[in-house]
Amino acid sequence: MEVNMAHVIAVANQKGGVGKTTTTVNLGACLANAGKHVLIVDADAQGNATSGVGIDKPRVEKDIYDVLVDEEPITSAILHTDHEGLDIVPATIQLAGAEIELTSQMAREMRLKLGLQPIRADYDYILVDCPPSLGQLAINAFTAADTILIPVQSEYYALEGLSQLLNTVKLVQKHFNPDLAIEGVLLTMFDARTKLGNQVITEVRSHFGDKVYHTVIPRLTRLAEAPSYGQPIVDFDPKSRAAEVYEDLVREVLAAHGE
Ligand code: ADP
Ligand code: MG
Repeated sequence: MEVNMAHVIAVANQKGGVGKTTTTVNLGACLANAGKHVLIVDADAQGNATSGVGIDKPRVEKDIYDVLVDEEPITSAILHTDHEGLDIVPATIQLAGAEIELTSQMAREMRLKLGLQPIRADYDYILVDCPPSLGQLAINAFTAADTILIPVQSEYYALEGLSQLLNTVKLVQKHFNPDLAIEGVLLTMFDARTKLGNQVITEVRSHFGDKVYHTVIPRLTRLAEAPSYGQPIVDFDPKSRAAEVYEDLVREVLAAHGE
C-alpha cells in the first residue's frame, strides 16, 4: 500500500504585509473544506497565523520554537483549531530568538524537515507561514518544502526583492533540497480602480508566465477584518466575495495537484 505523504508548501516572500499569513490561513481552511487534512506551521514570531485561526497565544504551551531549537517532538506542539480538518503548530514571540540560536547549532537548516517527518503521513497538506526575512527560519521552511507559494502585492514595487528570494531558493536547491519547486505566484491586494494594478499583473505574468494563478485576490476589507475574530474568511463570512476568491484559489491549487 502506498503511504500518503503531505505535500509541504512554504508561503514565502521576505516583504512584510504582502498577504502571506492571510493566504496561509485561508488556503488552509479552504483545503480542509475540500476534505483535506491540513497542518499550518506558523514560522513567524509575530504569530499572526496562530491568532488568525483562533488560538489564544498566551495559552500556548509548546510552539514551533521548541520543535526547531530544542528538537521536541512536533506532536507535542500540534493544536486542533475550531475549523474541522485544520491543525496548527503555533508560534509565539519566543520564536524571535530562534534565528540567532539556530546559527550555532548542528544541521540547523534541517530542523523543520526532520521535525515534520513523523507526521507527514498524517496530513495531505502542510502549509508553512514564513516570516518576512530570508534567515534561518525561511531556509528551514524551504528545506522542508516541496514547493513555494509566493504572494505578491499588486503594487508598483511588486517585483522588487523577488530576485533575492529566487536566489535563496537556488541556494537551498543546491545545498539542501534539489527538488524544491515553485508552487505558484499569487497576486494579492489587487485594486481594480487603479491602472497600476493591471500593469503590475501584466508585469508579473511576463516574468512568471503560467506560474501565476488566474485567481487574483482583490483588496477586500473583509479579509482584513477576519483575523481579529480568529477566523478564516470561510467561517467569518462564508458568502462573501473574499471567501469566494480563496475558494477559487484552492480549486486552482487542487487542480495543479491533479485533484
Ligand atoms: P504578511 O503575512 O505577508 O505580512 P498579511 O497576510 O498579514 O501579510 O497581510 C497584511 C495585512 O493586510 C493584514 O492586516 C491583513 O489582514 C491585510 N490583508 C491581507 N490581504 C488582504 C486583502 N486581500 N485585502 C485587504 N486586506 C488584506
Ligand atoms: Mg505574516
